[in-house]
Formats: sequence, structure tokens, C-alpha cells
Amino acid sequence: AAKAEGKSRYRLFQPRLSELLISRLTRQAELRLAIDTGQLELHYQPRVLGDSGEMSSMEALVRWRHPSRGLIAPDDFIPLAEENGLIVPLGEQVIAAACAQLAQWKAEGLPVVPLSINVSARQIDDASVSGFLAGCMARHGLDAALIEVEITESATMAAEGAGCGELAAIRALGVKLYVDDFGTGYSSLSQLRRLDMDGLKVDQSFTAQLAGGPEDLAFFTAIVSMAHAIGMRVVAEGVETVEQLRILQALRCDEVQGYYVSPPVPPATAALLLRKRFLFPA
Ligand code: C2E
Ligand code: MG
Ligand code: MG
Ligand code: MG
Repeated sequence: AAKAEGKSRYRLFQPRLSELLISRLTRQAELRLAIDTGQLELHYQPRVLGDSGEMSSMEALVRWRHPSRGLIAPDDFIPLAEENGLIVPLGEQVIAAACAQLAQWKAEGLPVVPLSINVSARQIDDASVSGFLAGCMARHGLDAALIEVEITESATMAAEGAGCGELAAIRALGVKLYVDDFGTGYSSLSQLRRLDMDGLKVDQSFTAQLAGGPEDLAFFTAIVSMAHAIGMRVVAEGVETVEQLRILQALRCDEVQGYYVSPPVPPATAALLLRKRFLFPA
């Protein structure tokens, strides 16, 4: 009886598994096509100085303009791309597009700020990202001061051997390195110091707790003093309210980013924000 049951169970699951596999392969092929036919586009989210609201940088965030499903958020395709390796060509396209956009804004006479590019662990492992970045910067005549790279905390810590060399190679270009989603991984002070990171972007989950109690404040306060002690800047992600901003200002958090200042916006709107420059709501 057990055997029969096991068998029927197996039969029950088999079609589901192949369905999953097919949908996975379909999604993969679709994403490959999206990369090859230019369905990916970048939106930009400003980051501002905590005290003045002056724009200090803009983060490039990829979106997939799907022919039938509309605009797809990166959380719906980046993980897949990371698993199957498509993140490498996808990431190169992001780097190339960000550099081209920045060069175009410069040519139009806009007061540009550095663009911050998200780079995933797999791109670091692949060890070609620094060379690719250098090529794009050179082709567009961009100074290294105009490019920043964000790597998640877990990816930063996983960076060993070749990966660590790759981080150093990016650093050697003069490009600034930020730890993204800080607080969600397990980095140590010594690792951050060894990797010579320029700043921490504190994960939005910590910003969301800011109006809570003294313990939540203590966490942020500790991060700020630790980071400043080893010469790193602190950026708060996900700032949505003026209350959060006021607390972060009191804690001497260097920069803030979030819906309170601006959501990610398409290039035309980003150009308007560059002209405006000071972005705290009046
Ligand atoms: P991230 O780099 O931590 O980017 C911040 C995410 O939080 C963005 O989501 C942004 O739209 C969202 N966000 C910003 N301000 C607020 C706020 O005030 N409140 C809330 N609730 N959310 C806010 P998005 O654009 O959907 O990107 C999600 C993630 O996808 C990014 O997280 C990043 O890890 C990844 N990603 C995006 N573009 C790329 C890329 O070109 N390459 C790689 N490797 N990853 C990317
Ligand atoms: Mg980021
Ligand atoms: Mg983040
Ligand atoms: Mg994130």
C-alpha cells in the first residue's frame, strides 16, 4: 500500500515538476531575449545630503519593459538572472546604459552627480566587471569620481580570492564602493576595513524602525559612529517620512534616500531633478 501510495504521489508531482521546469526555461529564454532586444531600461533614484537635501548621487535601478506584462520590477527577474548567469550580460548592459546616460546628460550641460550602479556577487566572481566598467568609462570620457558601485553586504562578505581582487580592481579605478542593504548580513568591522569600502547603505528595514524606541535608535547610532570611526559614509535607505529624516539628521547620518525625497524615476524626470538639485520637500 505504501509503495502504491508512493508511486501515485510520484505521478502526481511529476507533471508539476516539469511544468515548473518549463516555466523556468521559458522565463530564462524570455529574459535572454529581453537583454538582446533592449527591453531593459534604467530608472534613477536620487540620494541626498542629510543636512541640506542637495543631491549627491543617483542610483541606477533596472526595470524590464515586458511587451505584454508591462514594467517588471528587478526583484522579479534579478534573482533568476543571478542563478542562471544572465546577470553578467544584464549587468554589463546596465553599466553601459548608465555610462551612456551620464555622458548624454553631461553633453546636454546638466549639472550631473555620480551614478551608483548595483553589482551582484556573480559579477564580482566573474572577475570581468572592473575591466568592463573601465572600458565604458573610457569610451564615454567619464571621470572615476562620477561612478559608484553598490554591492550587497552578503556579496561583499562572500568576496574572497578572485572576488576580493575584483573589488580591489574596481576600487583601483577610483570608483567608490558602497555596501548595499547593510545590516542584513554578517559583516565584521575588520572585513569592511580590509575591503576598503567607502560607505554603508543601511537597509530600509532599519530606517522603518527608527520612530520606534531607544533600542532602534541605538542600532543606527552605533552604525554611524562605527562607520565614521573608520572613515566610511552612512546612507539611510528607505526614508519615507519627515520624522525619520529628523532622527537621521540628529544622528549625523551623512546621506538619505527614499520615497520622502523621491522614488526611482525615468530619465526625463531624473534630468529635471538634476536641475533642481535640492530635493527636500518645501
Ligand atoms: P536596492 O539596491 O537596495 O534598491 C533599493 C530598492 O528600494 C529599490 O527597489 C527602490 O525602488 C526601493 N526603495 C527606494 N526608496 C524606498 C522607500 O522609501 N520605501 C520603500 N519601501 N522602498 C524604497 P527596486 O528598484 O525594485 O530594486 C530592488 C533591488 O533590485 C535593488 O535593491 C537591487 O538589489 C536590485 N537591482 C536593481 N537594479 C539592479 C541592477 O542593475 N543590477 C543588480 N545586480 N541588481 C539590481
Ligand atoms: Mg542599491
Ligand atoms: Mg539597498
Ligand atoms: Mg535591496
